[in-house]
Order: sequence, then C-alpha cells, then structure tokens
Amino acid sequence: MSIQVPRGTQDILPGEVEKWQYIEEVAKDICKTYQYKEIRTPIFESSELFMRGVGDTTDIVQKEMYVFEDRGGRSLALRPEGTAPVVRSFVQNKMFGDPNQPVKLFYTGPMFRYERPQAGRYRQFVQFGVEALGSEDPAIDAEVISLAMQVYQKLGLKNLKLIINSLGDTESRTNHREALINHFKPRIDEFCSDCQNRLEKNPLRILDCKKDRDHELMSSAPSILDYLNDESRIYFEKVQKYLQAMDIEFVVDPTLVRGLDYYNHTAFEIMSNAEGFGAITTLCGGGRYNGLVEMIGGPATPGIGFAFSIERLLAALEAERIALPIEEALDCYFVSLGEEAKDHTVKILHELRNAGFTAERDYLDRKLKAQFKAADRHHAKFVAVLGDEELKNNKINIKNMQSGEQEEVALPEFISYLEKHIRLGGH
Ligand code: ATP
Ligand code: MG
Repeated sequence: MSIQVPRGTQDILPGEVEKWQYIEEVAKDICKTYQYKEIRTPIFESSELFMRGVGDTTDIVQKEMYVFEDRGGRSLALRPEGTAPVVRSFVQNKMFGDPNQPVKLFYTGPMFRYERPQAGRYRQFVQFGVEALGSEDPAIDAEVISLAMQVYQKLGLKNLKLIINSLGDTESRTNHREALINHFKPRIDEFCSDCQNRLEKNPLRILDCKKDRDHELMSSAPSILDYLNDESRIYFEKVQKYLQAMDIEFVVDPTLVRGLDYYNHTAFEIMSNAEGFGAITTLCGGGRYNGLVEMIGGPATPGIGFAFSIERLLAALEAERIALPIEEALDCYFVSLGEEAKDHTVKILHELRNAGFTAERDYLDRKLKAQFKAADRHHAKFVAVLGDEELKNNKINIKNMQSGEQEEVALPEFISYLEKHIRLGGH
C-alpha cells in the first residue's frame, strides 16, 4: 500500500484550510483588541521542561509525550502543550522585567500527544492559547475567560457552556487535600491502581479519574469550595462578579479540578452543548497557575491562561451547522483566444495581480466554452475575454458574471474598470 499520513494526523487540504485561516484570523483580531501579542516558540523543547512544567505524574508526560534523542544525545520532546514553552521563554527572555505588566501573550500551532485517535482527539492538533503573566488581579482571570468566549461567539457558536471553579490558594488546597485523603483512605482498595497511587501524592486527581468516576465516594467527596479560606473565597467571588459585569453566563462546578500543585484559584472549561457533538464535549480548558514560573526557574510570578484546539472548534461549528463566511469568489478570470492574445495575457494578468485583484487564467489551451466553465468553477465575478481581434483594436471584452452584462473596454482602462466595479461596488 502507498504511504499514508501517520495515525492520528490529517492533511488539511485547500477547501478546508480556509476555515483554519479564518478561525486563526478571528482569534488574532480578538487578541489585538485585548492586547495579547503573538509569541512563537519551537515545536520541540527539552523533555525536562514538560516534566517540570506539565508534571511527571500526568498522563501527558507519562503516556502521551513524543520523546526522542537527537544526534547530540539530548532528550527532546515534541511539545504536547503551549504553556510550559511560553513560560520557559518568559523566564529565558526576562520578560518579567518588561515595564509592561502583565505580559499578555498568545500562540497558535501544532501540539503532539500520543493518544488513542478518535473524534476530536488527534496525535497532532493545533492549539490556540493565551497566557497572562504578572498579575494576580481577578479581573485578568475574567478577561482571559471572556477572550476565549469571544472567539467562540464571534464565530457564531451558540450552544456553549462555561463552567468555572476555584482551587483556592495553597492553604485552602492543603486543607482540602487532607479532607480528601480522609474521605477516600478507608475504601481506597475499591479504586483503580492509579487512584491508589494518587491518594497520598495528589488526591485531587482522584476526582479526575475516568475509570472510577461512578464510585459513590466520588459524588460525596469534600468540595474544594467548602475549604476556601476568606482570601480565596473573595477572589473567586470577584471573578464571578466580573463575568457577570460582562454578561457572561457560567456555572460553578466544584468537581472541575486540575491536579497539579501549581494550579490555584480559577479553573475553567468551555463545553459544547450542541446536539450530536459527540462524547468529548470540552472545547477549551484554562486556569491560573501562580507557581509555574517559579517551577521553571523564574521569579515568583502569577499567571493564567487557556488553550483550545481548532479541531474541536471546527467539530462544534459543524455540530451547530455554522458555515463560516469565507470569500471564495475570484475577481477576474482571463479567457484568451489566439496566440498573440495569449502572450499578451501574461502581462495583463501580472498587472492585475499587482493591483491586488485575485485573477486566474487558462493554462491548458482549453476551448472558449471550457474556459468559461473554469471561470464558473472559480466563482469569477468578471470574465475578461481577449482575442487577437480585440487586441488589435486595443480593447478587451468584460463580462459581469452576476448580471450577464458585457462591455467592451479600452485595454488601458481595464484595471480602473475593475477597480470601479469591484472595489467601489458601483456600475
Ligand atoms: P481531554 O480531557 O479532552 O484529554 P485535556 O485535559 O488533555 O483534554 P488540555 O491539555 O487542557 O486538554 O488541552 C486544552 C484543549 O486542547 C482541550 O480542551 C481540547 O480542545 C484540546 N485538545 C487536547 N487534546 C487534544 C487532542 N488530542 N486532539 C485535539 N484537541 C485536543
Ligand atoms: Mg488529554
């Protein structure tokens, strides 16, 4: 058999790729209004970055990371996510010293995880994400959430559900942790081996277990919200107040957790409620990570961010039957007949493109009718016909494909004619 794409990856072909470009444009435009600046980091990083930054007890690092050794014997990993690389760059480039604080960044690019491929789950997928580093104001939490919601809403998604939670500060988490251990310990032998390991190391992650999710101790587990100290509670209330101020609807879900120690305060997810969206409903995940910068070797710096994949966003658009307004039309298709006219086309086409018009021509010596068919396939707004006869008279025939009107125009007037009819939309 001929060679296929690697399992869990896909080609994005013309016709489909325009949707990706459109989504990326919308996301970038929104980032601009919020003043998040783009950052581009390498696709591979030292493996240790993710062991520290994502956590060596996580599935991502233990089971899903593409790790390889380069010819110099370095252990590298294809990035499985974007936050650790951005934080690495923040530290390495001493962005904490930038007078503009917080530092607000966004990224978009491929991520790699060795997962079991299924709908909405790929081994290479494109994430768009933002990180705001250097502020502990709950307004920045609300801002980051609103930015994610804006992207989805601008694209037309309606069936969205925002869930938020607070993991509190270190003190709140420590108290909650103890309560969790006391809760699960007496019956931990009824849980999977992963959960048994998690009990002392990281009991919060038991709540995230996919195998034991229906165990009765899960729903009766102590809620983090009952363990928030005053400061954490006030922080969480402020985030909610700010979301309300922006008319962003949300649901508080105390079971939404992130297992790693450096996550604190706000955690959130955006899900799709669309009918037929499938088993995986999470579109976007994010949260605050006030300990991460220090973990990666920088000065203690608070941070918050989110990431979503374009793949799942596209699936949500499809589930809601939303067609993106992608401009397909071609400004002008060039039909030429006769040798001399054909030669002359090279020059006119060049001028046309130089003036910024989208323009195409025939390269296969097709007959008149076939050239017009090609113009239709390109959704041409205008077809310009140049024959040897027209050329001799220094004229060109222009057909408006929408109205069917035809006009003969002096060749030197050709571009200004199109300018008038396409750019100014006049007649
Ligand atoms: P899940 O529970 O679905 O595995 P996750 O917790 O691993 O998600 P994050 O690491 O928080 O996901 O990544 C943020 C977002 O990236 C997800 O909400 C989802 O949109 C997207 N994402 C994660 N893994 C994949 C994948 N394998 N294929 C496509 N998109 C993905
Ligand atoms: Mg995952």
